[in-house]
Amino acid sequence: MAELARYAVSADGSRGRRHAEAGPAHRDEFQRDRDRIVHSTAFRRLEYKTQVFVNHEGDLFRTRLTHSLEVAQIARGIARALRVNEDLTEAIALAHDLGHTPFGHAGQDALDACMREHGGFEHNLQSLRTVDVLEQRYAAFDGLNLCFETREGILKHCSRTRAQELGDVGRRFVEGQRPSLEAQICNLADSIAYNNHDVDDGLRAGLLSIEQLEGIELFTRHVGEVRSAYPGLAGRRLIHETIRRMINALVCDVIETSAANITREQPDGLDAVRLAPPLVAFSSVLGREQAHLKRFLHEALYRHHQVLRTANKARRIITDLFAAFTSDPRLLPPQYQGGAPDSQERRVADYIAGMTDRYAIREHQKLFAVDLS
Ligand code: MG
Repeated sequence: MAELARYAVSADGSRGRRHAEAGPAHRDEFQRDRDRIVHSTAFRRLEYKTQVFVNHEGDLFRTRLTHSLEVAQIARGIARALRVNEDLTEAIALAHDLGHTPFGHAGQDALDACMREHGGFEHNLQSLRTVDVLEQRYAAFDGLNLCFETREGILKHCSRTRAQELGDVGRRFVEGQRPSLEAQICNLADSIAYNNHDVDDGLRAGLLSIEQLEGIELFTRHVGEVRSAYPGLAGRRLIHETIRRMINALVCDVIETSAANITREQPDGLDAVRLAPPLVAFSSVLGREQAHLKRFLHEALYRHHQVLRTANKARRIITDLFAAFTSDPRLLPPQYQGGAPDSQERRVADYIAGMTDRYAIREHQKLFAVDLS
């Protein structure tokens, strides 16, 4: 591995773990974090959680797991090119969606609505709660006991009030500072991954058409290049060749724009990165094009009537489960019944958020199907 830049986070300089542990052998602290995330239960559950399409709708659509792997691949590539910490970047990317509910954003919004009077539900906070508290694997502590820098990177958004309650890991939100470059990279890699794979999945599902996408500059430019280089190419191969070029263009743009920002600001360490404006960024042209693609996907895909129909069912399942479990907590598995310092509602939210799509569907059937035969 190339030598880390002085603005990178180094494992030796980590602010450490909440519970002191002996240092790892043959790997560094962030590699250990990455390994703990891959071995966690929450990580395996991502395989059966919706990204946009519910898991049983087709075998080739992205799930939260394949999404997280694509984010990690894109983020690592950017991190390596900018000579920041690739292992920390990978750990943050693999963990960034661990707190997601079943059924994608419809599930998150429904659970947030259920929790409105009880502190709300936000998947970034839940990802942190998953690695800090909910994973039960180690004898000496709850959670995965990850390093400060990994935990801070997982917490992508946070309100000021929440940040104050969280203490050191939320401090940057209170002080209006930026996170590490490694965390900034993961945020942009997340959007590069989902914008592009949602185009791919939307076309595969027949919910989007190439004709609709012709109005989107990023797509039009690259599909045009492919058509002139390979006249006659059509179908899936035309789409794949176009999307790979779109991803490559966005990744190269982030690397070049961020490298120029870093050269201009000359941050001499993490403290300087925190005080500088966001250094990992798209150029203004590609930033605009990427935002346009994102708006298009919101309208054409995420609000497609077929997607909304599934979202409506998902909302119903989450809302019904929440109502049943909060009105009679005895229906919950014992480990989710009460327990200071959390409210019963919070424990119900933890239980529901941890469910895979199909587990939630089965739980709903068990609780509400009236066929007793
Ligand atoms: Mg994501």
